[in-house]
Amino acid sequence: MTPHEKIVCRNFSGGTWHDSAGGTAERHNPATGRLAAVAPRATPEDVDRAVTAAADAFGHWSRTLPAERAALLHRLAGVCAGRVDDMAAAITREQGKPLDEARGEVRKFVAALHYYAEEATRVHGRTVPNDAHGFTSMVEYEPVGPVAGIVPWNYPVELIGWKLAGATAAGCTIVIKPSEHTPGSAQVLSECVAEVLPPGVVNFVHGDGETGRALAAHPGIVKIGFTGSLRTGQALYRTVTGVTALSLELGGSCPMIVTDRADVGAAVAGATRRSFRNAGQICIAINRVYVQDGVRAEFTERLAAAADALRVADGFAEPDADVGSLTLDETYERTLAHLADARERGASVVAGGGPVEDLAPGLFIRPTVVADTPDDALVMREETFGPLVGVASFTDLDDAVARANGTPGGLAAYVYTGDTHETFALARGLDFGNVAVNNVDAGIMNAPYGGRRESGFGSEHGPEGLTSYLHPKHIRLRHGAQ
Ligand code: NAD
Repeated sequence: MTPHEKIVCRNFSGGTWHDSAGGTAERHNPATGRLAAVAPRATPEDVDRAVTAAADAFGHWSRTLPAERAALLHRLAGVCAGRVDDMAAAITREQGKPLDEARGEVRKFVAALHYYAEEATRVHGRTVPNDAHGFTSMVEYEPVGPVAGIVPWNYPVELIGWKLAGATAAGCTIVIKPSEHTPGSAQVLSECVAEVLPPGVVNFVHGDGETGRALAAHPGIVKIGFTGSLRTGQALYRTVTGVTALSLELGGSCPMIVTDRADVGAAVAGATRRSFRNAGQICIAINRVYVQDGVRAEFTERLAAAADALRVADGFAEPDADVGSLTLDETYERTLAHLADARERGASVVAGGGPVEDLAPGLFIRPTVVADTPDDALVMREETFGPLVGVASFTDLDDAVARANGTPGGLAAYVYTGDTHETFALARGLDFGNVAVNNVDAGIMNAPYGGRRESGFGSEHGPEGLTSYLHPKHIRLRHGAQ
């Protein structure tokens, strides 16, 4: 596959690809401006066909033995593993992350398929004590029905994967709407699905928010798994019919606290990775760092040096680059606006500081660190979603926790300390769905991952990422035995 090859996408439902009357949209490579993919804009009729296919397949798939569903998901994982390079190339072309990083994303998606294949066979009911002799009550868990997965562009394969794997392992069928900015990688994924899964179990409709709205409003959808912005999450509330279940994985503005007891080298390595990986376009990216006075100067100096040492490049030309291009004009502009705002409010730029001129008009920004950043700066209050991190100091631990908790989102927080008391005080005091201590990998496949407050509700990963697609049924048997 060459860097310039464009992917032609089609809607996929009921096991076949379909043309759409809704016209097409083009996606261009944000690093080069070249055409990367062409995708349909699915109409309400296309959405209806996909939901109908999912509803038709549900009767059979929900009754397929868990072990058979598991075998099929393992097989799908194998087919996807065989197309890692194709999916990764598509991601790099339309999303901008370096090719090696994109390969890593696809491999994690393959691991998620294997994980949920195993979890499919571990759904257990229970028996419940009764209020009279001669009765037994059983609680069984059943798949909720046809569901929808609506996803963003920053991890275009992995974020589809969590929903696809959890829902189908549970016995649900699913209609997926990929982001309009990353249709090509979803097309490759749909080709893998077509090879393995029965028709209608997994369906894809391409398009923008209009298509998403039609899908969310469709009465045949019983649950929506959504990942994306707060704005769209709020719009979904207004769109759903009132009996559609919703899980919302939204954004955040994730803090990191580094205390005087921390291993500063480890904290710097963690901050560098989690602020700048995927050009900072991660919902759990470190947006703001609070450093205790005793290590502030050393931490800031070393973080600045580490940021400046990162190699920014077109991720296709240099697959092992540290940072690729940003994905959208919108995130590029917002990052520069947050940088300008921090400067105006008196922060000092200690690393990076703006676009990579040599790579223009590609959307490249140098990994940027602003120090002595006041709490009212945008970078300390809002999600930047770009390669920019603000650093501020603190004296008192309680004050650091209050400032870390002081923004509306509650997705992930990070702590570096070598002290046991501080570890627990901070882990318990931080009002976030995920707290990582002395590491920056806040999400692992077999533990629940979700946000609080304006970061949404519901969990993916772990058994919860499957059980959220199940509902309980109480069966009360009168048998007369004492
Ligand atoms: P977005 O909300 O603009 O779009 C997400 C998806 O929703 C896209 O597929 C889009 O087409 C669709 N959509 C847009 N309007 C819609 C509507 N009215 N009805 C139904 N669907 C609609 O988000 P984005 O810009 O693609 O993604 C970035 C955001 O996602 C960031 O805030 C980031 O933090 C968040 N995110 C969260 C997580 C998490 O796990 N919590 C993971 C990744 C990204």
